[in-house]
Amino acid sequence: MPCKNSDYHKKWYQINRERILKIQREYKKNNREKIRLAGKIYRKEHLQQSTERMRRWRYYNPERSIDYSHRYYERVKPHHSEICKKWKVEHPEEVRVHRHRSNFNRRLKFPIGVTKESEAEIKRRDRGKCIYCARSIDETLPRYVPTKSTEDHIDSKGGSTIDNLALSCWECNQSKGNKDVLIWTKEKFPKRYNRIVNKINRIKKLKSVI
Ligand SMILES: [Zn+2]
Repeated sequence: MPCKNSDYHKKWYQINRERILKIQREYKKNNREKIRLAGKIYRKEHLQQSTERMRRWRYYNPERSIDYSHRYYERVKPHHSEICKKWKVEHPEEVRVHRHRSNFNRRLKFPIGVTKESEAEIKRRDRGKCIYCARSIDETLPRYVPTKSTEDHIDSKGGSTIDNLALSCWECNQSKGNKDVLIWTKEKFPKRYNRIVNKINRIKKLKSVI
């Protein structure tokens, strides 16, 4: 049943709106911790409703939701990476399986791998040097040595074809990882940026050889 004086209340609110908002703002500012705690308790007691509301909000505010999760991730990044590292040390078997699976998926997507001939072709084309840092590299070195010769996927999500593979030292390959090649190059080798981009363009123009 609506309040008898609802019109009166509405009018009163309209007249005093600014004043009320100011009081609310001040209260929020002074009792931030208290409000946060109350919200936490409320969400715990009304878990289903709060999850539903959160979902609805995400659905209607997709951009803000993404922005929010980015900021959240930035905030917890150091903590998160520490947990990841710890987990990887404790679960070597899962890590191995996951790595195997991602390689396997790549092969499923791009069934043509590198043949001996195309390997030699890549070596000849890139003149036995890392295309990023231009150091001489050696394939006889053991793994984890910075100047060990490796083949880097220029587009990390692309296939193992001659126009997507480049000679690279182990260090550059590791440092690049899954990052976008242009962004990474600009950060890591700002002075050599143009030269590296030219090299990449030349490689990409090649037709992939089976
Ligand atoms: Zn390098």
